[in-house]
Amino acid sequence: MLAIVGGRIIDGTGREPIEDGVVLVEGGRIKAVGRRGEVEIPEDAEVIDASGKTVLPGLIDAHCHFLMMGLGLLRYIDLSEAKSLKEALELVRKRVEETPKGQWVLGRGWDESHWPERRYITKEDLDPIAPDNPVMLVRICGHLISVNSKALEIAGITRDTPNPPGGLIDKGPDGEPTGILRDARELIERVIPPPTEEEALEGLKRACDLALRLGCTSIQDAGLNPFALRVYQRAWEEGVLKVRAYLMLAEEAAEAAEKLGIKTGFGDEMLRIGSVKLLADGSMGARTAALFEPYADDPSTRGILTLEPEELRRLIREAHSRGFQVAVHAIGDRGIEEVINAIEEALRENPRRDHRHRIEHCEVLTPNQIERIRELNLIASMQPNFVGNWSGPGGMYEARLGPERLRRNNPYRVLLDEGVHVAFGSDSMPFHPLYGIWSAVNHPIRENRISVVEAVRCYTWESAYSSFEEHLKGSLEPGKLADITIVDGDMIREPDRIKDMEVYMTIVGGRILYRRG
Ligand SMILES: [Zn+2]
Repeated sequence: MLAIVGGRIIDGTGREPIEDGVVLVEGGRIKAVGRRGEVEIPEDAEVIDASGKTVLPGLIDAHCHFLMMGLGLLRYIDLSEAKSLKEALELVRKRVEETPKGQWVLGRGWDESHWPERRYITKEDLDPIAPDNPVMLVRICGHLISVNSKALEIAGITRDTPNPPGGLIDKGPDGEPTGILRDARELIERVIPPPTEEEALEGLKRACDLALRLGCTSIQDAGLNPFALRVYQRAWEEGVLKVRAYLMLAEEAAEAAEKLGIKTGFGDEMLRIGSVKLLADGSMGARTAALFEPYADDPSTRGILTLEPEELRRLIREAHSRGFQVAVHAIGDRGIEEVINAIEEALRENPRRDHRHRIEHCEVLTPNQIERIRELNLIASMQPNFVGNWSGPGGMYEARLGPERLRRNNPYRVLLDEGVHVAFGSDSMPFHPLYGIWSAVNHPIRENRISVVEAVRCYTWESAYSSFEEHLKGSLEPGKLADITIVDGDMIREPDRIKDMEVYMTIVGGRILYRRG
C-alpha cells in the first residue's frame, strides 16, 4: 500500500484542486482520494511526502511519435537547440567527422524560424562540410527535409525528377534541386538502411525512460507500420515497455488488422490497437497545411491536400464501417473542412453513436467548424506546445497566418466553452507534457488561455477519453489504475513556472518507475 500525503491534488476530472490531499494506492489501483483527515492512512502504508508538490493523474500524450522519437534519440543529431543556421551546420560537421565515409548522417529538430538567418538549410550549406556522406536533416515539423548532393545522388533525384503526389522537390532558378524537399521524405528515406528490431527496441527503451522522467505514463503513437507493431509487442513481452501505449495505425497496418478482424480497442491496459491514422494536409512550418486563403508570407500558395477529397472520404468511410476510430491529421481550415465533411458523410451512411473520431492538430478553425465539430462529437486532438513554440508575437504562426487568422489558431478557450472534447499531446515537438500545459495556460493569445485545472484535464482525462479508456485511467478516482505523477512545485500558485518544474515521481500501475535523484 502506498500513501501519497500532503500535496495539492489536481484529479483530472476538472474539479477544484484538493489541498493537503491523500491518495491511497493498493494492488495497482487507486483506493481512495481525499483531504488529509478524511482518508484514513493505514499504519503499514509506505508514505510518500508530497508537501509543496502537485499530484496529478499520470499524464497521457494523445499524439506523439514515440518509437520514432526513441529511434531519433539513438540515430539522429538533435538540432532543436541550435540557435542559428551556423550552429546547426557546426553540429552536422562534427558528426560527419565521426562517421565513416559513405554512411548516412541524420539530424532533426531544426527550426529556422528561431534563427537570425531565417531560411531553410540547402545543399549548398551541406556539400562543403559533407562531400562524402549523404546527409538528411528533418525540420522540426517533420514535413520538410534538407539533404546534400550525395543524398540526392543516392536517391536518384535530378532536375528531371517529377514531384511525388502531394509533395514538392524544391528547384532553383537553374532548375536543379536545392536540397529542400517538402512532404517528400519518403524519396530519401527509402534509400536509408532501415533500423533493425534490436535498434528499435533500444530506441523504445530510451523513449520510455524519457517519458517517465517527464511524468508521462501513457502515450498514443501515431502512424505505425507492421514493423513498429512487432517492436511494441516484443517490448511488452520483454519488459521494455514501461508506459501504456495506444497504437494509431498507418493505413497499410490498419488494412492488415481489419483482415484479421481486429479493430480499435483490441489489446490490454499496456498495449492496445487504436485508430487508423490518415493525413489530410501538411504543416504550417512548410506552408503545406491547407488553408482557405493564401499564406500571409507567401501569397502564391494555400497549402496542399495530401489526399484527393474523394480518396479521403473513401478511406474514412471504410475505416469507420470496419469499426475503427479514425484520427485524421488536418491543420489548416481547408484541410479541416474536408475532414469534417468526410466524417459527417461516413456517419450519415453508417451511424455509430460512440465513434470518437478525431482530428489531429486541428489548428486553424473557423467558428462554423467549431460548431460542427461539437455537433458531430469529434475529438480535437491538439498540441499546446505548438503555441508555446510558435504563436508568440513575431513568431512563425503570425508570419504564416497574418493577424486575423492568428487569433483563430489553437483556440482552446472557445473549444472548451463550446463543450468540444480537447485531448492534448505533443507530436514530440518537443515531447514534454508540462511544457504543453504551461503553453495552454499562458497562451500568447490571451483570449485562448485556459486554466491549469482545464489544461491538466485535457492532458489526462480527455486523452484517456480519446482512446476509449477514461473508465480505466485519466483521473485520480477510486478503482482506476494507479498511474500518478507528482510534480515538484505548486502548479496552481505558480502557473508561469510550470514549464520549468521537474517531475518528482512517476507511478505506473502502483509501481514507482521514476523517482528524481
Ligand atoms: Zn504527428
